[in-house]
Amino acid sequence: MKLKDEVAIVTGGGAGIGRAIALAMAQEGAHVAIWDVKQALAEEAAEAVRNAGRESLALKVDVSQSPEVNAAVERVAKEWGRIDILVNNAGICEVTPVDKIEEKEWDRMFAVNVKGVFLCSQAVMKFMMKQKSGKIINLGSLAGKVGGIAAGAHYAATKAAVLCFTKSLAKFLGPHGVRVNAMAPGVIETDMTRMITGGDWKNFLATIPLGRIGDVSEVAKVAVFLASDDSSYLTGETIDINGGQLMD
Ligand code: NAD
Repeated sequence: MKLKDEVAIVTGGGAGIGRAIALAMAQEGAHVAIWDVKQALAEEAAEAVRNAGRESLALKVDVSQSPEVNAAVERVAKEWGRIDILVNNAGICEVTPVDKIEEKEWDRMFAVNVKGVFLCSQAVMKFMMKQKSGKIINLGSLAGKVGGIAAGAHYAATKAAVLCFTKSLAKFLGPHGVRVNAMAPGVIETDMTRMITGGDWKNFLATIPLGRIGDVSEVAKVAVFLASDDSSYLTGETIDINGGQLMD
C-alpha cells in the first residue's frame, strides 16, 4: 500500500474526480475526509471509503468560506492527529460567453476555484510544516493552459491562477518538506463535463489523439502517484492528463 495510514482531505470529494481520488487513496491505505458543499454526496462517498476498509469523515464544507474550512481542518486534525494529504479538487464551471458574464458569476468562480484552494492550503499547511511532511495536490485544467475551449473564460482564468499558485506554494513549502503539485485534466467524463457538452463528445474526440475522453480513475491514479513517495522528487509540477489533446 502506497499511502498506508496517511490522512487525506479531498475537497469536492462527493462526486466525479474527487470521489474517485478519495476511493483510490483509501484503496492505498489512507483514511479520507470527504469535504463537499453537498452533505448527502459527502456522506455517500465516505460510506464508500469505509466499505473499502478505511476510516472516513464526511464534512459539509464550502471551500470559499474560511470559517467552514478552518473548522473542518481542526475536526480532521482532532480525529486523526495529523494531515498528510490535501487534494484541492472542489471546483465549479460555467460556459457563459465572456461578453455575458456578470460580475457576481465572475466573483463566485474565483471564490470557489481560487480562493478555496488558497484557504484550504493555508489551513492545512501549519500542520504539514510542523510535521515537516505533506502533499498538496491541486486540480488545474487544460483550460488553464490554453484558454476555455468549451468552458468559460472565467473558469479558464481561475485554473491558470491555480497552476501559478501551485508553483508559489511549492517554493514556499519545499524547505518544510511539503510537496505541492497540480494535475491538468483535459476532458474527463463527470457531471461537470456532461453539463458542458450535453453528453455529446464528438467535437472533442477529433482533437484527442487517444480518441476517447478520460475516465475519473485515470485522474485518480495520477493523484495517488503525486501523494505517494513514487513522486518524492516532484514539486511545483503540473501533470497533463488529456489523452494527448495538448502536448507541451
Ligand atoms: P463535478 O462537478 O463532477 O464535482 C465537483 C464536486 O465539487 C461536487 O461534488 C460539488 O458538490 C463539489 N463542490 C462544488 N463547489 C464546492 C464548494 N464551494 N465547496 C466544496 N465542494 C464543492 O466536477 P469534476 O468534473 O469532478 O471536477 C473536479 C475538479 O477537476 C474541478 O476542480 C474541475 O475544475 C477539475 N477539472 C475537471 C475536468 C473534467 O473534465 N471533468 C477537467 C479539468 C479540470
